[in-house]
Amino acid sequence: MLKSTIKYKVEQIGGVFVEVPTKKVKPSQTCPPCGYQHKKTLDIRVHECGVCGYVQDRDVAAAEVMLYWSKGTLPGFGTSRANAPLR
Ligand SMILES: [Zn+2]
Repeated sequence: MLKSTIKYKVEQIGGVFVEVPTKKVKPSQTCPPCGYQHKKTLDIRVHECGVCGYVQDRDVAAAEVMLYWSKGTLPGFGTSRANAPLR
């Protein structure tokens, strides 16, 4: 019910509703720039990537992950140029 209402309201103003498969994408566990997944407990409020060094507020990083996933540019999900085979 909530999802259909949000979808209706977004589309009513000309937006595009995109549902992120959060069990696969894991927005709060995934690093936006590099796609590496870090397990975090809820009390850890800052995303700090040990792979690429990216630091961001946890919620902002999760929003970035969902944005990049919806644009097809999140590394590690087969849609980014970073995943393209080298020629
Ligand atoms: Zn990273």
